[in-house]
Amino acid sequence: MHINGETKLIGFFGTTYRTSKMYAVYNAALQALGLNYLYVPFAVDDLAQAVAGVRHLGVAAVGVTVPYKIAILPYLDALDTAAQQIGAVNVVVNESGRLVGGNTDGLGALRALEERGPVRSKPVLLLGAGGAARALAFALHAAGARLHILNRTVAHAQDLAAAVGPDVQVGGYALLPAVLRPETIVINATSVGMVNTPEVERSLVPAHLLHPSMRVMELVSVPHATRLTRDAVAAGCTVVYGDRMLLWQSVYKFKMYTGVEPPVEVMEAALGK
Ligand code: NAP
Repeated sequence: MHINGETKLIGFFGTTYRTSKMYAVYNAALQALGLNYLYVPFAVDDLAQAVAGVRHLGVAAVGVTVPYKIAILPYLDALDTAAQQIGAVNVVVNESGRLVGGNTDGLGALRALEERGPVRSKPVLLLGAGGAARALAFALHAAGARLHILNRTVAHAQDLAAAVGPDVQVGGYALLPAVLRPETIVINATSVGMVNTPEVERSLVPAHLLHPSMRVMELVSVPHATRLTRDAVAAGCTVVYGDRMLLWQSVYKFKMYTGVEPPVEVMEAALGK
């Protein structure tokens, strides 16, 4: 790595900036391509001032995560189509002083899911109606999946379905046994199963409802294996782990950060470390 007067910075805004795995991933990719960028953490305390810093320091781009994905919107100059639909950003690119927000969560999740088979015309049961579920719902619907959204707060699922399309069905988790079929693709887009929460050992899908012909996707990436994915492996389902979405949404971000095709194998190897 050779830092000089031309080195460009890509920063990261999010409360997980101390523990993020992405420094290794992006810097390995930048180095492999010989690009004169550095990907670094930013400890944000005042978001407005932090965004002003991006403008005034000529920071090339920022990755954005919880709790800034929506809060940052008023400080940006434009949003791409995905970010407009989702109503949140996970990437900001500085285009000569114009800050443009984008969102790669939906495309990244879809790519991870389609590594294990197509989604067109398939029944998909999406659990959750928060930011990640919203990104997935638009991407899955555009890809031709038949979408059923269940959420703890049914009104949130109804709002999401109304935004995505009239053919999207909704409900609460009591409908799980009625909705699940052997051919259903099941996606957990809630925070149930996440590390450092009281729900870490829980799954929203009772194990006896899982079937070997199901594809089960988990968005939680820490821990790598959740109760849902362990149950799904035991039931013989095809399992897609949260790490795969993390990889693909980062691959799409890299292209936005640099304009250059990402070295996917390098990023994959660095994420696995
Ligand atoms: P969010 O906007 O806060 O939404 C949280 C969702 O979880 C809501 O649907 C919420 O239901 C539900 N929920 C929370 N606690 C629950 C409980 N005890 N029982 C049932 N449902 C519960 O969060 P998010 O940004 O969408 O993130 C959701 C998950 O996706 C997180 O685990 C996050 O780490 C993961 N994620 C992964 C990636 C990746 O690249 N792998 C990317 C983005 C997000 P209510 O509407 O009823 O509150």
